[in-house]
Amino acid sequence: MQPLDADAIRASFVNCSRGEAKSVTLPTDVPWPTRDFLGWRDPKAPGRAYLVVPWGPSVVGLSLRAAPPATSRLRSNMCGFCSTTHSLSDVTLFTGRRAGKSGREGNTLGTYVCANLACSAYVRGELKSNVPQPVETLSLEERVARMEDKVRRFVERILETR
Ligand SMILES: [Zn+2]
Repeated sequence: MQPLDADAIRASFVNCSRGEAKSVTLPTDVPWPTRDFLGWRDPKAPGRAYLVVPWGPSVVGLSLRAAPPATSRLRSNMCGFCSTTHSLSDVTLFTGRRAGKSGREGNTLGTYVCANLACSAYVRGELKSNVPQPVETLSLEERVARMEDKVRRFVERILETR
């Protein structure tokens, strides 16, 4: 994605207060060319997470809440964005307030995603899950396209445009 400066990132958030957008701890040393979107946990507030997604000529930023570690009989789960299979501790339920009328009424939307939100790195094999992956024949470009599609659909639902 195109590099963004701090002001552009802070101005992109659509589903949190201006005060929260101002207080976000921004990521550093981002390898922009190999990132399809930005995703990070706030190191000063680990329950907070952020996504900044290219959106037409602009970007859309989402403020998310990370659920505490799940207690489930499942031993693994798949990231809803990059389709990487993880052990349960490496995948987290992230929830965002919807941006329109239903968000103001308390409506949220959640999805299970890589706990570190480093989907772009998993897709490129820069990071590896510690559990075996299903065999896939997709090319890198196809995997990136599938991920971008899933991220786009999540953003659209937060924006309440679908
Ligand atoms: Zn992922």
